[in-house]
Amino acid sequence: MNIHEYQAKDLLKKYDVAVPAGIPAMSVDEAVKAAEQLAASGTTLFVVKAQIHAGGRGAGHFKDNPEGKGGVRLCKTIDDVRAAAEAMMNKVLVTKQTGPEGKEVQRLYVTDGVDIDQEYYCSVVLDRASAKVTFMVSTEGGMDIEEVAHENPDAITKVAIDPDAGITDADAGKIADGLKFEGATKANAITFFKNLYKVYVDLDATIVEINPLITVGDEVMALDAKMNFDENALFRHPDVAELRDETEEDANEKIAKDNELSYVRLDGNIGCMVNGAGLAMATMDIIKLYGGEPANFLDVGGGATAERVTVAFKIILSDPNVKGILVNIFGGIMKCDVIAQGVIAAAKEVDLSVPLVVRLEGTNVEKGKELMAASGLPIIAADNLDDAAQKVVQATKQAEAA
Ligand code: ADP
Ligand code: MG
Repeated sequence: MNIHEYQAKDLLKKYDVAVPAGIPAMSVDEAVKAAEQLAASGTTLFVVKAQIHAGGRGAGHFKDNPEGKGGVRLCKTIDDVRAAAEAMMNKVLVTKQTGPEGKEVQRLYVTDGVDIDQEYYCSVVLDRASAKVTFMVSTEGGMDIEEVAHENPDAITKVAIDPDAGITDADAGKIADGLKFEGATKANAITFFKNLYKVYVDLDATIVEINPLITVGDEVMALDAKMNFDENALFRHPDVAELRDETEEDANEKIAKDNELSYVRLDGNIGCMVNGAGLAMATMDIIKLYGGEPANFLDVGGGATAERVTVAFKIILSDPNVKGILVNIFGGIMKCDVIAQGVIAAAKEVDLSVPLVVRLEGTNVEKGKELMAASGLPIIAADNLDDAAQKVVQATKQAEAA
C-alpha cells in the first residue's frame, strides 16, 4: 500500500527523521490558511506540492497547461500560494510515473521552502537476494535511481543490514561515507539513517525512498518521501491502514482485491485470465515469446466460483486497451465446467467484442469444452499453452488491424 508524501513525512517525524515543516490542504482555501499558519511561525518561502501517488511531480505538467509549471512550486507570497493551489487543485498532473493519462490532484501540501545545499538519493528496500533490508544511496539527488543504475552504477552505494544486529553505527557510517559526508554532517546522517531503519522495520514498510535527501549546512533532512507498506502486515498497523487513499488506486485493482482476485494492470493488449500465480506468469511469458504483450496479470485463484470468474472477466474487458483475451485454466481445485460457466455468463453479459481464446485442462475438461461449444459464443479453443498463446497473439493482431 502506497501513501502520500505528507503522510509519509508525518510518520518520519514521529521517528525523529528531520523533514521541513508542512501542512496538508484539501482545498485552495485550506492551502492559503496553511501558508498563513507557516508564515506565522517564520516561513518566508513556501512550496506548494501536489499530493498524488506518483513521483516526478516537479518535472511534470498539468494537462490543461502543458507548457506551464509542474506539481512542485516555490512561492514567495501568500497570493502566489493561492495561485499555485488554484493551478493544481482538481487538475490532472502528468508525470513520468503517472503515464500519459495523469492523475487528478485532490490534496496539496504546503511546506517550508528550504535553502538546499546539496540533494542526494536514499532508499531503504528489502533485497531479496541477500534477504536483508538494504540502504541504497547516491550523490545523484533528484534523479531516478533506475537511470543512475544504468548510466553511473558506481555512484550508488549499497549497505545491507544484518537483521539480528539491526543497524549499527558502523553501518550508518558506511552509508554516510557513500554520500561523502564528514564531521557534523556525518554525525547527523548516522542518526538520520538509524531512525529511517527503525521506521522501515517498525512499520513493515517495503520501500522508504527519500529523493532528495538534502543537506542544509550540517543538517540532514528528507525533502521528499515515498513509503510503501506490506499489505499482509497492515493488520498490525491500523494507524497506517487508515492512511489508504482509495481514490489513488486503480478502480479495477480494488474490485479485484474485494473479490480475492490478484490483478495487476499492464501496458499490453492481451487480457489474461489464469489460475495460479505461476501459470499466470508462464502465460505472460509465452505470450511475449510469440510477440504479444499482456494487458494484465490476473490470478483467479484455486477456489474461484462462477461469480468470481465473471467479475474477473469484466475487469479484463473494462480495460479499453484489451483487444484479445486468453483464458488459460488448469482445473484442479477449480473445475473446468465452473470456469466455462463463468466465462460464458460474463461474455454474454458484457457483449464480448474481442476474440477469446480458451485453453482448459484438468478436472471436468470435457464438460467445460462442451459448455463452451454449445454457448454459441465465438470462442477459439486451444489444445495446449503453446497453441493458445499463438492463437491469441494472432487473433489480437487481426483485431487490432481491423
Ligand atoms: P518529485 O520527486 O515528485 O518531483 P520532490 O518533492 O522531490 O517531488 O520535489 C522536486 C524538487 O523540488 C526537489 O528535488 C527540490 O529541488 C525541490 N523542492 C521540493 N521541496 C522543496 C522545498 N521544501 N524547498 C525547496 N525546494 C524543494
Ligand atoms: Mg522526489
